[in-house]
Amino acid sequence: MSSAEAPPGAPTKGLSLGLVGQRIHYSLSPQIHHAALENVGLTGTYKLIDIDGDQLAEVVEQVRRGELDGVNITTPHKERAFELADQVEASTAVLRAINTLYRNAAGEVVGANTDVSGLTRVIHNVNLATPPHIVCVLGAGGAARAAVMSALEVGAREVRVWNRTPSRARALVNDLIATAEARDAELHAMGSTATAARDANLIIHATSRGTAAHGMAYREVRRWASRCLETAPDGATIVDLVYRPYVTAWVRAAGEQGLFALSGLSMLVHQAADAFERWTGRAPDRNVLLEAAEAELATKAVDPAVTEA
Ligand code: NAP
Repeated sequence: MSSAEAPPGAPTKGLSLGLVGQRIHYSLSPQIHHAALENVGLTGTYKLIDIDGDQLAEVVEQVRRGELDGVNITTPHKERAFELADQVEASTAVLRAINTLYRNAAGEVVGANTDVSGLTRVIHNVNLATPPHIVCVLGAGGAARAAVMSALEVGAREVRVWNRTPSRARALVNDLIATAEARDAELHAMGSTATAARDANLIIHATSRGTAAHGMAYREVRRWASRCLETAPDGATIVDLVYRPYVTAWVRAAGEQGLFALSGLSMLVHQAADAFERWTGRAPDRNVLLEAAEAELATKAVDPAVTEA
């Protein structure tokens, strides 16, 4: 596998796109990408492709043959897709995981990671005035790894990683420490959320705890988030990668402490737009995509915990 940066020469009509993963029926991506197609004046469909790992090679082959014009890849296929791509963008080499496949002008299947670029854009947008010198990342899965890369990308001087299973946080640090040091940044695994969040300018919640939590579960995550944020300084910004329900437990807890917070919906939209641009060579209006995501979420996220007094 070699590196490639150039976007493809893009087809212009009747695109066949999709999301490849497992248990993806909840996804907002079809609505986001259908809005993107309409916004730039293209036709096509974006379908959900729920498959096992042993079927992934066939999907890659369909992209190679042009039967699919591009796909997003989600859990649990991101690492395997990295291996199956003909080429990968250089920026994916450290993470060895991709979330987007597209075909380049030579007909090769190229892998990209727009989780990193999407989150990087979110952080840029929320931290225009103050660069996030100290970033706390909670979690050590794929999203947390992307979050650490984004934090380094925007110039963090220190990145702290806490995870429920400490050995996974240490493994993450081990894997990414050279990248951090090359950017003159410190990267540490932390033993508690309290020490991880202390003095942090930016806190990124990247665990799957509370994903679409309802009722009691929502309240439990909200209490956990409040405890985690007790040592966060005034002025800290919170980015929750969870985006369901609309007001996530972390966003709610942060707001109760007077901290600015946003959910993962912005990242979802930016990673989608970055993928769409690779497939089509066209730049959709990202506000239109956000509106489509919000509208779809509103139809699905009825949560009594959010509307309680
Ligand atoms: P993953 O690879 O499966 O990692 C899950 C992480 O959550 C691990 O660190 C795990 O800790 C932690 N975790 C799970 N249950 C927990 C609990 N009860 N308490 C504390 N920690 C817990 O998942 P992922 O792909 O990184 O995704 C993480 C979250 O990010 C998901 O909610 C996903 O939807 C979201 N995400 C959002 C976007 C977006 O565009 N907004 C993109 C990607 C992912 P252990 O190691 O201890 O198991």
